[in-house]
Amino acid sequence: MVSRCSECSARVRPIVAVDIDGTLAEYHKHLGDHICRYFGMEWKQHPIYDPWDGEGNYEDYFGITQAQYREAKLAFRQGGFKRWAPVMPGVAALRHTLTGLKQTHDLEVWVTTTRPWNRLDSTDPDTRHWLDRHFPLYDHLLYDDNKYERLAEIVDRDRVVAVVDDLPEMWAQAARVFGHSKAFMVERPHNEWFIQSAPYFDHDYPGERIDLANFGAKVLIALVDNGWERVA
Ligand SMILES: [Mg+2]
Repeated sequence: MVSRCSECSARVRPIVAVDIDGTLAEYHKHLGDHICRYFGMEWKQHPIYDPWDGEGNYEDYFGITQAQYREAKLAFRQGGFKRWAPVMPGVAALRHTLTGLKQTHDLEVWVTTTRPWNRLDSTDPDTRHWLDRHFPLYDHLLYDDNKYERLAEIVDRDRVVAVVDDLPEMWAQAARVFGHSKAFMVERPHNEWFIQSAPYFDHDYPGERIDLANFGAKVLIALVDNGWERVA
C-alpha cells in the first residue's frame, strides 16, 4: 500500500512511536538512587539490591509518602538528568534498524513522552539535546500525559504500525488506541510485576516483553503485516 493524501497527493507515511524514559533512556535506577540519597535511607533499602518490580506505587516501595515522593522527584527533574541520562542497551541496534526502515519504507519516527515540557524550562531543550546525541533519527517529538491518545488525534491511527513503552499504563493506552498487536512492552525490571500478574487492565497481556534491540525487527514485521510496501 502506497497511500497518498487526497488533498495534496503527498505520500502517507507509516509511523512508529518510541518512548524515552525507561525505554531509550535509563530512568528508574537513577530516580531510585536519588530518592535514597535525598532522604538519607539505609543502603539495604537501596533499589540496586532489590529492584522495584512495578507492584503498587513507587513511593510505597521506598516507604515514603506521595508528597515526599513528589518533592524528591521534582528535585530530581531539576537536576539536569534529561541531558546525561544513560542510554539503554539496545538503542544502537534500534537506531540502525529504524534508520534502514526510514529509507526502505519511508518510516516516520515519533518520540512520545509524558515529560512535563510546559512546567520546567529545561525539559524541552534538554530532551532535544539528548535525542540529538542518542536518537537523532526522530521526525517528531510529542509531549502529553495521554500521549498515545493525543497521537491518534494528530495522525490517522492506521498509520501507526508499532509502539514501544516501558510502563504498563502507557502500554495499555497504546493497545487500546492502536490495537494489541501494535503495542510492545520493553523488558525492564520495573514492569516484571505486570507480566506476572495477569489479568491486568481486564485482559491478559497478549505477548512477551521484548528486548529493545529486537523492536526494529517487530516494526519491519508490522510494516509487512499492515501492507506497507517498500518504497526504495
Ligand atoms: Mg517510559
